[in-house]
Amino acid sequence: MPDRPGGGPLGIFGGTFDPVHFGHLRLAEEAIDGLGLAAVRWIPAGQPALRGAPQVTARQRLAMVRLATADNPRFAVDAAEVEAARASYTVPTLERLRQADQCGAQRPLVLLLGADAFAALPGWHRWSSLFDLAHLAVAHRPGFPVDLASLPAALADCWRGRFRVQPASLSESPAGSIFSFAMTQLAISATEIRALLTQGRSARYLLPEQVIAYIRDEHLYPEY
Ligand code: ATP
Repeated sequence: MPDRPGGGPLGIFGGTFDPVHFGHLRLAEEAIDGLGLAAVRWIPAGQPALRGAPQVTARQRLAMVRLATADNPRFAVDAAEVEAARASYTVPTLERLRQADQCGAQRPLVLLLGADAFAALPGWHRWSSLFDLAHLAVAHRPGFPVDLASLPAALADCWRGRFRVQPASLSESPAGSIFSFAMTQLAISATEIRALLTQGRSARYLLPEQVIAYIRDEHLYPEY
């Protein structure tokens, strides 16, 4: 999926999306406006490296992300991690995106993360190499304040050295800085949605109707 040459900063949004919900969608939409991104590329994880096996297949999670994002011209979906059928790690994913037939070396890439995912960064494979490949933008998430005192020391040092207040500076270099952005606070999680569905309760208004219809038609979450 090559991007337009010279396109503006591109948001990269990885996740398990088991299932995708309005918290994810607002994060991506508000990142575009708040950070001045040209677009967001959604990358569902094939086999998430840091958590147990998702309850549904990678192809089903990909299908849900496609349904949820289809009507937004600023969103694109990258199926490569799902098709690779091996553990997904972000650094190799970004190295793939840096290839000449993808985004190339110069386009600013901005890895979008909720504050919970950011705090867990030191557990990621080769996490400090992320900054050679992309900027990071951390979205506020209810229940997960970005509090330097409670971050792992190496990550807090990273924040102090790399944090930039002005998103405008994001387009001045391809990688290396940390930004944060406030988004509409939505205390929605895929864990909560799965729990509702397995109890036979309604998840309406937490995720798009077309995703709920797909879940129902495919009998994705037991008991639903
Ligand atoms: P689970 O509950 O299964 O852990 P999740 O709802 O956190 O799932 P993921 O697919 O793990 O969803 O998250 C992908 C990314 O979206 C992560 O960076 C996460 O921090 C972020 N995110 C998820 N939900 C929200 C939300 N409600 N507000 C802000 N960020 C969110």
